[in-house]
Amino acid sequence: MYVWQTDTFNQIIDLQKRNILPHALLLSSDPGCGIDVMALHLANALLCENSENTLNSKPCGLCRSCKLFKAGTHPDYMIAKPPEGKHILAIDSIREMIDFVHVTSSFTNKVIVIQPADAMNEASSNAILKILEEPSDNTFLIMVSTAKHLLLPTIISRCQKWHVPIGDHNVTINWLIQETKQDENNVKLALKQSNFQPIRAKAFLDNGDLAFQQRVIDGLQQMFKRQISPVQLSTNWQKENLNQILFWLQNWLTTSIKIQTAKQGDHQVYEANKRIIAFTAKQANPESLFEFYGKVQRYNLSLNKHQNLNGQLILEDILIGWHNLIEQN
Ligand SMILES: [Zn+2]
Repeated sequence: MYVWQTDTFNQIIDLQKRNILPHALLLSSDPGCGIDVMALHLANALLCENSENTLNSKPCGLCRSCKLFKAGTHPDYMIAKPPEGKHILAIDSIREMIDFVHVTSSFTNKVIVIQPADAMNEASSNAILKILEEPSDNTFLIMVSTAKHLLLPTIISRCQKWHVPIGDHNVTINWLIQETKQDENNVKLALKQSNFQPIRAKAFLDNGDLAFQQRVIDGLQQMFKRQISPVQLSTNWQKENLNQILFWLQNWLTTSIKIQTAKQGDHQVYEANKRIIAFTAKQANPESLFEFYGKVQRYNLSLNKHQNLNGQLILEDILIGWHNLIEQN
């Protein structure tokens, strides 16, 4: 579990100790904050036979329950996830879950994790309502989501809602410095480039993405200076991580829009990508910039839904769009 999750975790465990924890919980957070890790930790704690006696209510790691949980063979635990490569949680998984609820537990509590809960389609959502409406004793349902708005209101209203915030930025910064052994400047830059999502920022630092980002910045600058065509640039990037590039491009466009609408001064932009953002804000017609931003956002959403899209074509389309945006004036 991560440092920024401890408070919420302790509050939930406190309710359990006082026997007033509701049977259905909805854990939500922004993406890239490791909420799935917290959900598993909580499931482990609710199953642990010694958790009441351990410091900070953490799972003891030593009892039968903890050992079975660690081995992935706990009979009173079930996790429902979409199959590998898919993004829909089909009704079959929910039916299995309903059967599981009716089996008597081997130890004390039973725990089900649905991850992510927003992957449930309409049929699955309606089926899960059955569990929510007829709770079983000592059975906890933990729903996890980083896109709560996609859940049916009838489901949300039947869960106790816990939004897990990132909290104090200094805590996150210190955690990243410790984890990645990088200096504070790099960590702050990585956080900023990751929309303050610590897990994404960690991956960014671990994978040497700062160098990768510099390649993207250099490429765009060459395109702005007409040293390279958008098509050639997208060919150069064909082996790079497209999702990551699009995530950055969208962030930079957002900041350009904020500068144009004076919601942000360009002094707040980090040096590394300042030229890209400031240049775009200066050159682009506001209406076209906003329209172009919408297009990049739609591409990002489609890619996040794992749709089978041709990455090379998307990148080419975006680079041509950006090129036209700054050339129009
Ligand atoms: Zn234990």
